[in-house]
Amino acid sequence: MSMTFISTNPATGVAFAEHPEMDDAEVARRLDLGQRAFEEWRETTFAERAALMKRLGVAFRAKKRELAAIAASEMGRPITAGISEIEKCALVCDFYADEAETMLAPETVDAGTSESYVRFDPLGIVLAVMPWNFAYWQVMRFVAPALMAGNVGLLKHASNVQGCAIALEEIIREAGFPTGCFQNLAIRVSAVEGVLRDPRVKAATLTGSEKAGASVAAICGSEIKPTVLELGGSDPYIVLADADVEAAARIAVEARFQNAGQSCIAAKRFIVVRSVHDQFVALFKEGVAKMVVGDPMDEQTTMGPLSTASGRDDTARQVRGSLELGAKLVCGGSTPNRPGFFFEPTILSGVKKGMPAYDEETFGPIAAVIEAADEADAIRIANDTEFGLGASIWTRDIARAKQLATRVNAGFVGINSMVKSDPRLPFGGIGKSGYGRELASYGIREFVNIKAVRIA
Ligand code: NAP
Repeated sequence: MSMTFISTNPATGVAFAEHPEMDDAEVARRLDLGQRAFEEWRETTFAERAALMKRLGVAFRAKKRELAAIAASEMGRPITAGISEIEKCALVCDFYADEAETMLAPETVDAGTSESYVRFDPLGIVLAVMPWNFAYWQVMRFVAPALMAGNVGLLKHASNVQGCAIALEEIIREAGFPTGCFQNLAIRVSAVEGVLRDPRVKAATLTGSEKAGASVAAICGSEIKPTVLELGGSDPYIVLADADVEAAARIAVEARFQNAGQSCIAAKRFIVVRSVHDQFVALFKEGVAKMVVGDPMDEQTTMGPLSTASGRDDTARQVRGSLELGAKLVCGGSTPNRPGFFFEPTILSGVKKGMPAYDEETFGPIAAVIEAADEADAIRIANDTEFGLGASIWTRDIARAKQLATRVNAGFVGINSMVKSDPRLPFGGIGKSGYGRELASYGIREFVNIKAVRIA
């Protein structure tokens, strides 16, 4: 077994850094430190926690370019998109610094006693198993509420973004959080089970694939520990006959191709009603033609490479498999002849059930356009998936869209808008997309003991 993590630049395919793995003794030391930190941290006031969280927000803003450059080199995220990601990290720090105390304020209940109330106490160490695709944001949307609630965090980050993990540990320490409040565990998947079974670890959150989620949840289940799972998606983007087709097609480019399509909440299946289908496809194609695919460090770049060679190969397989079964290539479709893990932004039309682009989550720059006969057919197709993360509905009839939103199986519905996480709105899925919620007041209440106090 390798004793280091290798960082490879996806734009060149060249390995450029090695990070040592932590051994069992170091993991044990960090668990110990985490537990000691928790015992003091839980006693701090919201104001004390908020002051540090605000300082962390300031630190993120000050270091945004530097942090974005690490992500660009490790997972290919274009630098300008990386900078926006860091600004969002700062925002989530500010949000929970401002809101946590109100969100977790004890609630008085009339239970027929002299006094009864509900309080929200922290649980202890929470392990976060996180993916590489938004290497900072995924972590911070866990860290900000967890720490504000009085918990402490351990991070097992994806193997390919260990530089981002180290940078996060550093920036959180530098902001002044006591040692042990947030620690990186540079460990392999094989070492996760031991951490989850440690009695000091009280809960886990995982963002990633179904397979990883099921594995962590099974272990936590056997230990009776709560979990939050944010897994994959195959989000529908429904364009109805009365939609502003031009706007729908324009936003579709970002909704699908942001982060080279490697987003859980990217629109993946474009379900377009027949009467506007051809117009939508033509405008979508024009939008895609304007994308700038290239070096993630170049500020003009709107789409970089995929993060790994296997991600690129899997995308190529899904395109090939769908074309073989009769899908039509509108644009893209190939691996460009250049170093790194690039794949052309691709639109497929005529996508049908049975094709990989319909049946599977496409975690790369492939837009699958599916023609629907009418609105009812569009909703049927939208729900024809085991996932249930996000959905977009495009129509000028907002009242109708609100009604349709009740029938779409998803944790988030965008009406005339793409699905986007926002600290003020809960985020999460149903079905194979996972359970539990992050962000908003729902997220901060996931890892707390909802404690009832009843005074006779
Ligand atoms: P992944 O393989 O599941 O990796 C995610 C994290 O889980 C990594 O830290 C990985 O470590 C770890 N991991 C993998 N197998 C594990 C196991 N059996 N036990 C414990 N940990 C394990 O996911 P990915 O394929 O890289 O990421 C893409 C997936 O994440 C997509 O399905 C995407 O939709 C989903 N995602 C969901 C959300 C959401 O919010 N719902 C957000 C982003 C991504 P290693 O790197 O060491 O393997």
